[in-house]
Amino acid sequence: MCVTHEGLYCSLPDFGYESGIWHGFGTRELSLSVLEGESSRRGLRTVSLVQEHSDTVHRLADHPPGPLTGDALVTNLPGILLVIRTADCLPVLISGSKGAVLAAVHCGWRGTNLGIVHKVVRILRDEFGCGASGLRAVLGPCIASSCYEVGGDVRRAFAGRGHPPDLFRPIQEVPGKYLFDLRAANQYQLCEAGLEDDNIFSISGCTHCEKNLYSYRREAHKAGRLLNFIGRCP
Ligand SMILES: [Zn+2]
Repeated sequence: MCVTHEGLYCSLPDFGYESGIWHGFGTRELSLSVLEGESSRRGLRTVSLVQEHSDTVHRLADHPPGPLTGDALVTNLPGILLVIRTADCLPVLISGSKGAVLAAVHCGWRGTNLGIVHKVVRILRDEFGCGASGLRAVLGPCIASSCYEVGGDVRRAFAGRGHPPDLFRPIQEVPGKYLFDLRAANQYQLCEAGLEDDNIFSISGCTHCEKNLYSYRREAHKAGRLLNFIGRCP
């Protein structure tokens, strides 16, 4: 069950049970300055990305001196708060080795199609030595499949990459259009990458329907970005 903190963000106690792990999925009330203030009180420095719908993953061995471009962050250092911005895309937070290794991933349809979550899990296993059975992931709010209309180009992009076809449901009244289940696509990748079902958590809620969340499809260029974060306090 998701716990809301003063209307600013929600978190899942079942996921972040390791001591010292702080994580959350922001509402539109959570600004970067509020997040940075709360972070520094906990001894954490925020790191975010210039996101580009890629499958680029950054491993942080230190606090980076300048801006990074990419769509996923991984670290085994305490004192760093990994931040992913979303407005309809899916944020995924991952913890491995009892919270010693953390990741935050930005999953839009392009990054999902490139298999970014699967790639992050491979990195956690191969480079950080995380056992698959100890990996836990939580999927935050994103646009629900009932609101996420896409064209045949998106369906074709996924068809060649081994995703199950039932991620796309044809819209009867609109030929050539489909409803796409972004959450299920990433749940599928996490399972394929070796996570156990019981270790994949999901915070339901549709960014397009819920007015306290930002939605690019609803607000277009006026949409801000939701701040999703995870870090280990020193
Ligand atoms: Zn919706």
